Amino acid sequence: MALPITDQSPIEHDAPLPNDADAVVIGGGIIGVMTAWELAKVGLKPVLLEKGRIAGEQSSRNWGWIRAQGRDLAEIPIMLEAQSIWRDLDARVGGLGLAQTGTLFMAPKDGDMAGFQEWLELAVPYQLNSRLLNARELADHIPHANARWAGALYTPNDLRAEPWVAVPALARAAVEDGVTIIENCAVRMLDIEGGAVTGVITEKGRIKSERVALAGGSWSSLLLRRHGVSIPQLSVRATVAATDALPEVVSDSGVDDRLAWRRRADGGYSLAPSGFHELFVGPDAFRAAMGFLPQLIKDPLGTRYLLAAPKGFPDAWGTNRRWSADKQSPFEKMRILNPKPNARKVEKLAREFAGTFPSLGAVTIKDAWAGMIDVMPDVVPVVDACAALPNLTICTGMCGHGFGIGPAFGRITAKLMQGKEPGHDLNRFRLSRFFDGSTLELGPNL
Ligand SMILES: Cc1cc2nc3c(=O)[nH]c(=O)nc-3n(C[C@H](O)[C@H](O)[C@H](O)COP(=O)(O)OP(=O)(O)OC[C@H]3O[C@@H](n4cnc5c(N)ncnc54)[C@H](O)[C@@H]3O)c2cc1C
Repeated sequence: MALPITDQSPIEHDAPLPNDADAVVIGGGIIGVMTAWELAKVGLKPVLLEKGRIAGEQSSRNWGWIRAQGRDLAEIPIMLEAQSIWRDLDARVGGLGLAQTGTLFMAPKDGDMAGFQEWLELAVPYQLNSRLLNARELADHIPHANARWAGALYTPNDLRAEPWVAVPALARAAVEDGVTIIENCAVRMLDIEGGAVTGVITEKGRIKSERVALAGGSWSSLLLRRHGVSIPQLSVRATVAATDALPEVVSDSGVDDRLAWRRRADGGYSLAPSGFHELFVGPDAFRAAMGFLPQLIKDPLGTRYLLAAPKGFPDAWGTNRRWSADKQSPFEKMRILNPKPNARKVEKLAREFAGTFPSLGAVTIKDAWAGMIDVMPDVVPVVDACAALPNLTICTGMCGHGFGIGPAFGRITAKLMQGKEPGHDLNRFRLSRFFDGSTLELGPNL
């Protein structure tokens, strides 16, 4: 398995650009695909525009966890809906690699169990089947582990899927149901008349539409700022390594204080350093620094700072922030954000996984990649109509949790675009929390 989606991957969706559309969705990650599909399901004719390839960025590069465990309380009901949608999608589309395998958060020390207990108590109203395992129960549950943990938080109902297979498959199914997808088609700017969004201006021309959604992942703040809306969104590099096929030593997805793992459908494990991200410092990082301070104080060692982003990244120093609609925009200069993985971390992951499951012997890595995770100061996304730009709905800043919850946020975004009741309390995800003097409340960091 080589991570299949790069700018060398063939273009699969190349529909002609229409002059107008019932709705336009910007960004072909899990959020954009599911938003567009939900719009098509109610009989609308949406157009989904992707500057690179469907799922070329975070939506194919993630761990593949679909978890309710450890979620922000406001996300739990949405996540439960997402899990139910995932099951429906698997029945309809198939081949997504969907499996119910459970999630384990390991507690390195006794003291860590208290944090898990606290979350469990708060989550009681949602009737998850999460529970604590003590050291002995955990050892019985995963007998192959060289267990040095005090216990774990465990949610047997959680799911997993294969991101780089699932999201492109969902996009194909969405096309069958009436979504028009155009890859290699960047939205340069929103089209605005009389203060309201009336469509988009792409590198291939203009599309008129009075319903536009922005699901641009790490690029959302760049586009919004061009139109005078500033959101404190940053992106951090996260590295993943894929082992060769191995005997099954643990089926649940798990994480401790060193590494995270997920068993893949091809028999290997995806590994990642836990609680470790890298921030390329750029102008947005300076602008948003104060907002991110509480996160930094809570987890001072979780982020490594790098002086400058590679050329063309959304927050690189040289990235143009004042482009015009008739010239190449930053979005088409970087079709797919494909950061280099952190090689030292990759080597360490193999050693640590082998040390955790000694019966495996030496663990070999067959591939490694990285993705840029879009994060917000309070670790929850923005899912809201944009008051400053009528007709625009924003769904972005998924903070490393958007793959699992994506199908439900897609459904919610489609409802918001139609002026329908979203079916969930979205107050926690409102855009105005960054401007209205609210004290930001940090989401869980278990
Ligand atoms: C290493 C890693 C591990 C993760 N693990 C998990 C996990 O286990 N579980 C989980 O739930 N989540 C996980 N995540 C997070 C998850 O992958 C993301 O939250 C989710 O994929 C975000 O989806 P999205 O559609 O918002 O953004 P993306 O997938 O980033 O898609 C946005 C798309 O918009 C396009 N775009 C941007 N601007 C424009 C424009 N102007 N015109 C046209 N197109 C544009 C981009 O090219 C991109 O394809 C992980 C992420 C990473 C990187």
